[in-house]
Amino acid sequence: MSAFGSVFMPEMAISWFDGSQWSDTEVVSSDSLQLHPGAHVLHYSSTCFEGLKAFRHEDGSVKIFRMDKNIRRLAQSSELLGLPAFDEAVMADMIRDIVARFADDVPAPPGSMYIRPTHIGTEPAIGKAAVPSLTSCLYVLLSPVGDYFTGGDKALRLLLDDEGMRCPPHMGVVKSGGNYAGALQPIMKARAEFQADQVLFCPGGDVQETGAANFLLIDGNEIITKALDSSFLHGVTRDSILTLARDMGMDVQERELTVEELLERSARPGCEAALSGTAAVLTSVGTLIYKGQEYPVGNGGIGETTVRLRRALNDIQWGKAEDTHGWLTSL
Ligand SMILES: *Cc1c(COP(=O)(O)O)cnc(C)c1O
Repeated sequence: MSAFGSVFMPEMAISWFDGSQWSDTEVVSSDSLQLHPGAHVLHYSSTCFEGLKAFRHEDGSVKIFRMDKNIRRLAQSSELLGLPAFDEAVMADMIRDIVARFADDVPAPPGSMYIRPTHIGTEPAIGKAAVPSLTSCLYVLLSPVGDYFTGGDKALRLLLDDEGMRCPPHMGVVKSGGNYAGALQPIMKARAEFQADQVLFCPGGDVQETGAANFLLIDGNEIITKALDSSFLHGVTRDSILTLARDMGMDVQERELTVEELLERSARPGCEAALSGTAAVLTSVGTLIYKGQEYPVGNGGIGETTVRLRRALNDIQWGKAEDTHGWLTSL
């Protein structure tokens, strides 16, 4: 089994902005992309992306999960990075058409087709460190993925970091390359020193998120996660899970969560914690590591409510439960 996101469909959808207008969408080989070495993105990180999935249903149809919300977020990321605006309806057609072209290659559940729309600043202008790129390129890559959980569904170990930040506060909502490169050092250090899987960034004691997933605390009927602000990524999976939790009658609390409260609640039997994101869906967190000490969350294993919420989400994605919120798009 190849690593998540390392296999690509041979073609991608692409459109270029020349400073005044967007080209018609083309389908080209996904093997390479020609850019000037002075392209804005390569020097000043004018780049943003999305991650969403298409699923195969039992009747053979293929559905894309929450496409509109992901396109909206890409448009917002583009705006915040000074990248040219694009037509969200055109982007939707780009995604639908390229997925339709490779519909036969969409894996059956628990696999899916991971969709990676990307927007980059292409202007050859190394003098523009403080000026946006006038030209850009949008493309949509496809990567068939298997079950993220092969190799055992193990609860994760998270290192709580209350000193560092994942990214500057105004960049939290942007799915932009530099944010990930910038968070690598603390994550590599946490892996080496504490055998942690991820770092949970909690600047000043404020529990935010990990390098690429949102954090949820599940304590009995309560589900607690940070309220939306500009400092962290507004996950579509987070929103979906909270919606399903409300449907199940859970007490959803979007508010500040401190490290102190997190550690106190974690010690209670039955407490659970999880990470949410398109790739991992909802993954149990079994251990928190803080100031050199380990704190099991509840029983330290896979949480029952976490599994129930993940299944409820998968059931909608896989066409096994009714799509009551209108989250699926047909090709
Ligand atoms: C993508 C991402 C998430 C999860 O967002 P989803 O829309 O649920 O996939 C959370 N945090 C960060 C930093 C991310 O990049």
